[in-house]
Amino acid sequence: MNKEQKQLKTNMIFEYFDIHSHLNLGELKENQDEVISEMAKEKIGTITVGIDLETSKEAIALAKKYKNIWATVGFHPMNVFKEEFNKESYKNLILENEIVAIGECGLDYSKLKDNDLRTKERQKEVFTKQVELAVEFNKPLMIHCRPKENTMDAYFDALEILNSFSEPRLKGNIHFFVGDTNIAQRFLNIGFTLSFTGVVTFSKDYDQIIEYLPLNMILPETDAPFVTPVPYRGQCNKPQYIKEIVKRIAEIRNRDVEEVKQIFIKNTLRVFDSIKSDLT
Ligand SMILES: [Zn+2]
Repeated sequence: MNKEQKQLKTNMIFEYFDIHSHLNLGELKENQDEVISEMAKEKIGTITVGIDLETSKEAIALAKKYKNIWATVGFHPMNVFKEEFNKESYKNLILENEIVAIGECGLDYSKLKDNDLRTKERQKEVFTKQVELAVEFNKPLMIHCRPKENTMDAYFDALEILNSFSEPRLKGNIHFFVGDTNIAQRFLNIGFTLSFTGVVTFSKDYDQIIEYLPLNMILPETDAPFVTPVPYRGQCNKPQYIKEIVKRIAEIRNRDVEEVKQIFIKNTLRVFDSIKSDLT
């Protein structure tokens, strides 16, 4: 980043911040320049998330180019048999670039057969290596965890892995949280925040957990280009639509949108603290 870009980043004050998007994927990638300049006009920032080596590099390139974009590097659990996870390659990316978190990484059992222990073991192994990177570089984790329907299995396994790293203390966020209050509490106990997507605008399934959580432990995300919120269903999702998600969470909590907006920005800068140091 040159001096002028750094200066711009420093002057950025956000109206909204989308803590999890993929400007490096699908239709959103094709329109990224247009979407990002629109975002800048509306004072919207985002963390764009890597899901393999290539998309992690693309996230870094976007963060270097644009003042309102930050990057993570990570390897998604669904990719474990698509390519080899090479810890050294990720380590080099972290050493050579500014990144704000490790992920998305985690466990996804949603589409696995019950007896598919091989995939589960591989996912755990690759997740553990990424937790090690988070410890080594003192970065927060951006965790993707998806259990098999009607179970909490992937959350139990992820918690077991995280708890095996009790020293030093880990930090991070559970992206697209779909667990119950018991699981939520276990993540709160280790200081992890939970984030919610546009699904909250068209499903009541998340109301109870959103009512349960302290507001300072909630983060909003679009997961764009996926799960477009109401009233944009049918269109490609983009970080601008974070407004609808914040609005809906404020509604569930019966709080003023402005107030909730400010709390979420504060939470974002607390969890992803290298954004904060970039801004000050
Ligand atoms: Zn994602």
